[in-house]
Amino acid sequence: MDQKLLDFFKSLDRSFFIDNEFKNYAHLDRALPIGYEQTISQPSLVLKMTNFLNLNKNCRVLEIGTGSGYQTAFLAEFSEKVYTIERIKELAESARKKLEHLGYENIFYQVGDGSEGWTEHAPYDRIIVTAAAERIPEELINQLGTGGIMIVPVGSPSLQQLKLITRDQEGKIHIDTIGKVVFVEMKGKYGWTE
Ligand code: SAM
Repeated sequence: MDQKLLDFFKSLDRSFFIDNEFKNYAHLDRALPIGYEQTISQPSLVLKMTNFLNLNKNCRVLEIGTGSGYQTAFLAEFSEKVYTIERIKELAESARKKLEHLGYENIFYQVGDGSEGWTEHAPYDRIIVTAAAERIPEELINQLGTGGIMIVPVGSPSLQQLKLITRDQEGKIHIDTIGKVVFVEMKGKYGWTE
């Protein structure tokens, strides 16, 4: 595990991203409700997924599912630019306020259906999906650049396999399974029905 990532993980106050009665439970290593039937991700999983992305300051990252903005902070800290999409306006606005308060100026926000990606800024060096996809989202793979890394939970609404997808220098796609996880559903055109 990268030491700078570990240090950042320890320094970032997760409770700052929670506005409800669950704030007091922010130290627990579990997903917690943030309203609108959505959750802030489990901290150890945020750390694991970020580590697998192997970020550097040249990376342009696409994130699907801004949620509270907690995972977005990790992406912004270790990448050049982050393009983050959230379908629930209220969550997107709250996350934006928090991330701006923390001083991040390299994040670009969109409210909408992230299952379609964000073609305008594609291709991306990294793509992270923090909601469960029914199948590997082809539309997002198409927006992954050469040498790119994508991480996405794929499976049923109750249990998913965490897929690590890479595009090699020849453009060939490789898919590995790196664990079992439980995320809320990714809704939308290439996700579960709204
Ligand atoms: N990583 C976030 C955090 O640390 O707070 C938590 C993300 S939460 C588990 C999943 C988020 O994905 C929810 O906020 C949900 O509204 C959003 N979502 C689901 N489907 C989406 C879609 N098609 N486009 C954009 N966001 C979506």
